[in-house]
Amino acid sequence: KQVSATELAQHYLARIAASPLNAFTHVDPALTLQQASLADQRLASGDAGALTGIPIAHKDIFVTRDWRSTAGSRMLENYVSPFDATVVEHFKTAGMVTLGKLNCDEFAMGSSNENSYFGAVKNPWDLRAIPGGSSGGSAAAIAARLSPAVTGTDTGGSIRQPAAFCGVTGIKPTYGSVSRYGMIAFASSLDQGGPIAQTAEDCGMLLNAMIRFDHKDSTSLERAQEDFNRDLDKDVKGLRIGVPREFFGAGLAPDVEQAVRAALAEYEKLGAILVDISLPKTELSIPVYYVIAPAEASSNLSRFDGVRYGHRAADYKDLAEMYKKTRAEGFGEEVKRRILVGSYVLSHGYYDAYYLQAQKIRRLIAQDFQAAFKQCDVIMGPVAPTVAWDLGDKADDPVANYLADIFTLSTSLAGLPGMSIPCGFGQGEKNAQRPVGLQLIGNYFEEAKLLNIAHQYQ
Ligand code: GLN
Repeated sequence: KQVSATELAQHYLARIAASPLNAFTHVDPALTLQQASLADQRLASGDAGALTGIPIAHKDIFVTRDWRSTAGSRMLENYVSPFDATVVEHFKTAGMVTLGKLNCDEFAMGSSNENSYFGAVKNPWDLRAIPGGSSGGSAAAIAARLSPAVTGTDTGGSIRQPAAFCGVTGIKPTYGSVSRYGMIAFASSLDQGGPIAQTAEDCGMLLNAMIRFDHKDSTSLERAQEDFNRDLDKDVKGLRIGVPREFFGAGLAPDVEQAVRAALAEYEKLGAILVDISLPKTELSIPVYYVIAPAEASSNLSRFDGVRYGHRAADYKDLAEMYKKTRAEGFGEEVKRRILVGSYVLSHGYYDAYYLQAQKIRRLIAQDFQAAFKQCDVIMGPVAPTVAWDLGDKADDPVANYLADIFTLSTSLAGLPGMSIPCGFGQGEKNAQRPVGLQLIGNYFEEAKLLNIAHQYQ
């Protein structure tokens, strides 16, 4: 007997209710079951596609009409959007059933999910560990089977790194492929939505619904419709895998290196060839990203002024005090830090020294990748230098968090598609079993190729 959409939704809602992970910011079972019953009607009438009736949950960065949209911030604690994000709309049209909204770092700023106003998310593999961030709730929900599919966003690694830390599969498509309309903006030239799921194949099915031109997003790409799973079964014989030296230097934990090298050896067994390559500006991606992303954030977050959206301070004497109090109360530490940094690097006298300089190096980073793709078909390396660390360990040390982004930032700065697939376990410091992710980086528009390569390993 086929499981109905309603039974499936009930199954996941029960798991969510019993979960200790704090992965969700908002669930509304009545609403979910309403959507499930609509999906059941579609299934009965034959008006169903591959995704009809399958549950999904959305990172709380995507706005939704029916669920609150908080971006993990006090600023938007009770905010309800008057419209659905384009991505949410696409999945609704496909007949997917929304389970709720997923916890994340405030405005997607973070690497551990500890910057959420709604509290940290726990890693299902080890409740002492962070799930990664900023899409920590998304990755934890997949790993703990609280949902079979979720959305995430990746500005500098926020899909790939939590996927790695939670032992699941996630892909950030080529910049511009997934509509940013209704995705609460962090750094617009970097922000990109994508799916996290158990397998590459599941991610491909989700991309099939997610990647569409959107005239409401000024950087949306007009790509021809494609089936991202069309090449899953191609073998990888003769595939040239570029292994960037800079991804295996000092700072890479030995347990992570071991798992990643074992995965590379597995690919060799499947007939692939390892090619030594260099991405010389890898280290510069940290200062470059942490200038550009805050600069864009400081501009994007100016809209939270107590008038148009969300929180407003209770008492104030005049307009200026209203702004000040609202923003002081509404934003958390990390968000304030980024607004300060961003305003600084954009200000007169510093713009040329920081922002413009960062933009120039950003271009050089993208060129490094193009040079590398002359020698190889895909690039592979670790997603992060270590396995998930303990909750609280780096909570008061922003720079330690920034440094841990070293292997994901350059892909984002170049706008390339990047993927994370599970490739075993490391020990961490606590002698615990914590997942390791293998990163796959492709050239522009090569999502289908990445999914194929991932599928051959999985
Ligand atoms: N960890 C990075 C940051 O804090 C990336 C976050 C993201 O991709 N949204 O900005």
